Order: sequence, then C-alpha cells, then structure tokens
Amino acid sequence: MHVLILGAGQLARMMSLAGAPLNIQVSAYDVGSKTVVHPLTQAVVNDSLEAGIAAADVVTAEFEHIPHDVLDICEQSGKFLPTPEAIKAGGDRRLEKALLDNAGVRNAKYHVINNRTDFEQAIEKVGLPMVLKSALGGYDGKGQWRLKELSQVDGIWQEMEACIAATPTQAIVAEEFVPFQREVSLVGARAKDGSVEVYPLAENVHTNGVLSLSTAIDAVDLQQQAKAMFTAVANSLDYVGVLALEFFDVNGELLVNEIAPRVHNSGHWTQQGAETCQFENHLRAVCGLPLGSTKLIRETSMINILGEDTLPEEVIAMAGCYIHWYGKEKRAGRKMGHINVCGDYTGELQRKLCTLADVLDESAYPAVHEFAKSFNQ
Ligand code: AMP
Repeated sequence: MHVLILGAGQLARMMSLAGAPLNIQVSAYDVGSKTVVHPLTQAVVNDSLEAGIAAADVVTAEFEHIPHDVLDICEQSGKFLPTPEAIKAGGDRRLEKALLDNAGVRNAKYHVINNRTDFEQAIEKVGLPMVLKSALGGYDGKGQWRLKELSQVDGIWQEMEACIAATPTQAIVAEEFVPFQREVSLVGARAKDGSVEVYPLAENVHTNGVLSLSTAIDAVDLQQQAKAMFTAVANSLDYVGVLALEFFDVNGELLVNEIAPRVHNSGHWTQQGAETCQFENHLRAVCGLPLGSTKLIRETSMINILGEDTLPEEVIAMAGCYIHWYGKEKRAGRKMGHINVCGDYTGELQRKLCTLADVLDESAYPAVHEFAKSFNQ
C-alpha cells in the first residue's frame, strides 16, 4: 500500500516509520512548496499534488489547516480519508462547535462574533471571564484573548477587529472561561467497518499554550465518559483514522475543548507505551486493515523537546527513555522532538521523571521540574 499524507512534518515522518514494518509506503505533500516529498529525507518524489495522488492508494492528512482547493482535489480522487468535513471542522472553531453540538457532546458555552454587536451579545450570553479565540488559524493558544473585566472590552475589540479584517471569512469564537482542574485528551481510531479502539486518556500539561508533558493515566470513570464522546463525534463524521479529543476535567466531568482530526502530540506516548502506536493505527484504519490493540503495556510519559537540539548524555543513557528527533532546524520554541519515558513497576515512571528533572534545564522543561517539585513535596 502507498499512502500520501497532506503535510510533511513530524507526524508524517512518524507515520512513515510506523508504516514500514507493514510494507506501507508513505509520501508527504508539502503545502508550502506544493511538492510531494519523502517524509524522512524531504527529497522531492513528485512535483505535483496530482502526480502524488495518482501514485497513492490512499490520501490522508497530518494537519487541519489545509487549503480547501487542495482538499477538493483530494476528495475528487475518491482516495481521501477521513472526510474533508472532519478536516475542515478541525481547522475552524465555528464548524468544530457546531459539530460537537450536533453530536450531543458537552462543550463550553459560546457565541460567534463577526462584529461589535455580536461581541456585546457574547458578553451577555457567555458572561465574564471569557476566552476569545480566532475561528481560523489558531493553534497552541495563538490568536486568543482573555476578557476578565468590562474595562478591557474596547482594547480587545480593536485587536479582534484587526484579526477579523486580516483574513477573509475570519471570525472570533467567544467561550465561557472553564475553571478546570486539569486537561486530558483521548486519542483513538475508527476503522472502515465502524469499529472503535481508544487509548487510555492522557493528562496534559501546557506551557505558554504548548503541550509540554503528557502522561497516560488510569481513570475508569473519565475514560468511559471520554470514550462515549469520542464515539459520538467519530460516528457523526463516519470518521476513518485516528482522531483526538482534548477535554477539560471539571470536578470529574469532561467538557470537550478541541478536536484534532489526525494523530496528535498527546498520543506520542503510544510509541512505547501501547501495543500499537497511534501512527500505525492511523495507517491501518485508512488502509482498511484491522485496528491494532490500543492496550497500555507500561506506564509512559511524553516530554516535548521545544527549541532545543541536544540532550544531556544522562538522558540518552537512561534505561526506559526513548528519544525521537524530528530532523528540524533549531528555532526558539519549535517542536524539535520528544522523549518517551517508561516505568515497569509502581513508582518507577515518577522516579525517572524526577531524575530527568535533575539533568534537564528548568527553563526548557518547566513541566518536568514542576512535576518533580510536587512529587518530592
Ligand atoms: P486551545 O487553543 O483552545 O487549546 O487553548 C489553549 C489553552 O488555553 C488550553 O489548553 C487551555 O489551557 C486554555 N483554554 C482554552 N479555552 C479555555 C476556556 N474556555 N477556559 C479556560 N481555559 C481555556
């Protein structure tokens, strides 16, 4: 089988690595250069999208901000999975909210803002404090405002008005501020026959809006809630592939924050912690193969490597520590790679995270340091 992935970043790279043992060959469409490249070497393999599609059995995606003309071409080929509707919902918060409402899935109260009158209505309907998010192009906490008191309304409106004017069809989604205790996510896969397999929930720690630490957790009640919401969303889209739902945990009740119609950063731990990783399961689903087991095989955390291109020797030497570089050029804050760290007996993972805090720089890995401090208290 040959799979063409829209997007040529680390997610395509990791799908390529996961597909090789199954004889699934992966190529990647770079929407910037408009060429099809090898996901590991970035060497050009086809100089047009059409040629890449012709060479592929299946076309899928690793990100949701895909130009709609590209999606249209892929859909017309009859080879694209999941549906363009799912990809578009992942890239537009208005569609995402409508999708969640239609699937009957709990999410934060919201109001769509196109003009100042809508903004006034949002304040009435949603109340303060509120979080304001650009409908298009927002990710990792970018394009967001926090409105805490009415004195901020004029200043924030000026910025939002400029944001709306800068992009055709842009809008702002106002959302109630959710007083959550923690953020968790569920990654799972739905196959062509409608069967669903989900991984254990991951608890996620963000630093400045970017995921920094993700740990698979055992939480029976939350897992049940999350799986029911996952199944409702996936079925409503007749989804095929890996899908991720991000949640707020509010006193044991989950509320969906976002959906990602693709493999997800909070599922990278599955490479070492689950029987079949998310990358392989996405390929299995879109190629029409049975899904692989999503069972946890050992306690695992994933640490994102942000803006760094080296690691201390102690990390490379540590047993149960797996390093995944993405082969990218170093840039401040950029996702450069990740570390999966595993424990085999009770308390081992926690002890290893504390050892990592001793050797990793606090400014680059604040979440690991925070964990170690709270654990040692
Ligand atoms: P997002 O881009 O929607 O994932 O938002 C980035 C981060 O902002 C989330 O991971 C949360 O920590 C926070 N956040 C987003 N929406 C809300 C909300 N409605 N209430 C409280 N915090 C939020």
